[in-house]
Amino acid sequence: QERRYRKEMSEPTVTLDGRRIKLYVNAGLLGGIKSEVVNEADGIGLYRTEIAFMLQSHFPSEIEQIKLYSEVLQSMPNRPVVMRTLDIGGDKALPYFPISEVNPFLGWRGIRLSLDHPDLLLIQLRAMMQADHGKQQLQILLPMVSHLSEIDIALQYIERAHTEIESELGKVIPKPKVGVMIEVPSLVYQLDQVAQRVDFVSVGSNDLTQYLLAVDRNNPNVSELYDSYHPGVLRALQRIMLDCRQHELEVSVCGELASEPMGAVLLLAMGCNKLSMNHGNIPKINYVLRRVSLSELKPLLRSCLLLDSGEEVRDLVHNYFSQKS
Ligand code: PEP
Ligand code: MG
Repeated sequence: QERRYRKEMSEPTVTLDGRRIKLYVNAGLLGGIKSEVVNEADGIGLYRTEIAFMLQSHFPSEIEQIKLYSEVLQSMPNRPVVMRTLDIGGDKALPYFPISEVNPFLGWRGIRLSLDHPDLLLIQLRAMMQADHGKQQLQILLPMVSHLSEIDIALQYIERAHTEIESELGKVIPKPKVGVMIEVPSLVYQLDQVAQRVDFVSVGSNDLTQYLLAVDRNNPNVSELYDSYHPGVLRALQRIMLDCRQHELEVSVCGELASEPMGAVLLLAMGCNKLSMNHGNIPKINYVLRRVSLSELKPLLRSCLLLDSGEEVRDLVHNYFSQKS
């Protein structure tokens, strides 16, 4: 099976009825970026900066971060690389920055922590921009945003870092595109206002599922309730795609759902043309999407949204796939 997928890797991801889908890589360590599959990807859709931070014994200095981010950008020449600012807290801890909370997934996570430690955020933003050095590969992504004010404050820091780097380099460099993760339900209902502030959004279906269903994504006691195919979750995703189209806001999905054949076809039916996933899943998703057509997927999606449970959704999509093969 793997061999069949790989044989088509250099073929473009286009559905039978001509829709082109871009496939990006989720990356956290350089080892993952160097594989040959990466050559076929359209870019890095999510670079999780916290992974490198977690392996250190101290906050990496600006110089250390410049070196790290340069390597990431060079691994994907001439293609976009979306770098997410630090997303620690929740289940991701730094050994040198202990956080103890009763409810970490609802606590000091992602952008909240960065905005409370602007010194750390500024170093990170400065390092990203220096690594990019005006090549315009870099796009900056803000995690765990729940309030519009967080976007506004983060944009001020991005502006400040940009001005500093321009004057230190003594040349004009284009501003990087900025995006926001859609992973807290409140933002699903404020996409019109998000669109006025940033260039793109990236849907974190892992956290969005966790927060919509109030189910800890890592707790085995409730793992049966954690389900991205829950029709309530699918309807939220559908709404995101419709609102993004209406407000001309670029959107991609970088959660696990995008890396599953069933999830990928449903997202495609919703109108999402950009999926980001672990590099190992790219050949399979490419293979699957080259064999479906949007005209069959749309009625399939409509039926799924009317079902009662995630289990029923998976059965229906499973039947669709078995009839095809
Ligand atoms: C997500 O929440 O779906 C996501 C992509 O981010 P992470 O898994 O790093 O929280
Ligand atoms: Mg997340």
